[in-house]
Amino acid sequence: PELERTAPVRHRPALSYELFPARSDHSFERLRETVVQLEATAPDYVSVTSRAGHGNLGRVLELTEHVLAETNLRPLVHLTSIGSTRDQLATIIHALLDRGVRGILALRGDQPAGHRLEDDEIPFARPLIELIRESERERTAGLAGGRVSIGVAAYPHRHPESPTTSHDTEVLVAKERAGADFAITQVFFDAATYCGLLERSRAAGIRMPLVPGFVPATNPRRLERLAVLSGVEPPRDLLHQLELAASDAERRRIGVRFTVDLATRVLDAGAPGLHLFTFNQHTDALDVLDHLDLDRWSAPSLGDTR
Ligand code: FAD
Repeated sequence: PELERTAPVRHRPALSYELFPARSDHSFERLRETVVQLEATAPDYVSVTSRAGHGNLGRVLELTEHVLAETNLRPLVHLTSIGSTRDQLATIIHALLDRGVRGILALRGDQPAGHRLEDDEIPFARPLIELIRESERERTAGLAGGRVSIGVAAYPHRHPESPTTSHDTEVLVAKERAGADFAITQVFFDAATYCGLLERSRAAGIRMPLVPGFVPATNPRRLERLAVLSGVEPPRDLLHQLELAASDAERRRIGVRFTVDLATRVLDAGAPGLHLFTFNQHTDALDVLDHLDLDRWSAPSLGDTR
C-alpha cells in the first residue's frame, strides 16, 4: 500500500514546569487542577521539588505517583543529598525507580544554616549522580527498563558558596562527566548572564543542554524571597514597577511581559528550551507560554530534508 505522507516532525524547545509537593490534602486538591492545566501544553517534564533531608518524602511521592498514574506527563523528581545518609538516598532512589520514575534532578540541596556534615552524608551533587547511575544498573533491567535521565543545577550567576565562576564551571564539567544529561539553571534576570554561562560551559567542553529557569516575575514578595534563597537579586526597576502597579492585572501584565522578553532573548541566543518555576500557580506560567509562541524556535527533526 502507498505510504501516507506525513508532515515533517518539528522539535519544539524543551519545556518543563516546576511544582512543589502539597503541604496539606486541601492544597493537593488545588495542585491536581494545576497539573491538569499544565498538561494541556504537553511539557517534557513536570518537576517535583524536595526538601533537604526529605522530611516531606511522603508528599513528594504523592505528587509523583499522581503524575505517573493520572496523567501522560513525565515527573522529574528533585533529589537532594544533604541531610540524608547514602543508604537513605539509595532507598529513595530505588523507591523512585520501582515506581517508574525515569527523570531525577540530582542536587545537593539548600544547606540549612550551621549544618554540619555527617560522615556518611553525600556533600555534593556529583557523587549523588554516581549513586543514581549505580542504582539504575541494579534496579532497571538494561535499556528495556528505560534509561534514567539525570538533570543537575547550573548557575548563570556564581553559586553563593563558590569562590569563582570558573569553579562553578569545573563543578558543572564534573557533573556532566559523572553522568548528567542536562542542566536547569538558577534564576537570572538578564540574557547576557545566561549567555555568559553558555559560553563558559561550551569553552570547557560541556555538551549537555543548559535549560534556562524562569520565574514568572509577577510577584515582588516572591522575587525578594527567591533572592534570599538563591543570592540572585531581581532588577530594582522591575521591583519598583511591580510595586507601583495600579492593580493586580497590571502587575501581572508587567511581570509576564518582563519574563516573555527575557525568555525571547535567551531562546534567540540558542537556549534549548525553558523551565518555569510555577510556585504551583499555573495562570502566570501559562500566560508566559501563550505570549512566547514556542513554535517560533522549533527546529526540524533529523531526517527532515525540507
Ligand atoms: P553542587 O553542584 O554540589 O554545588 C554546591 C556547592 O559546592 C557549590 O558552591 C559548588 O561550587 C561546590 N562544590 C561542588 N563540588 C565541589 C568539590 N568537589 N569541591 C569543592 N566544592 C565543590 N534545593 C532544594 O533543597 N530542593 C530543591 O528541590 C531544589 N531545586 C532546585 C532546582 C533548580 C533548577 C536549581 C537551580 C536549584 C535547586 N535547589 C533546590 C537549590 C540547590 O540545592 C542549591 O543551589 C544548592 O546550594 C546547590 O546545589 P547543587 O546541586 O548545585 O550543588
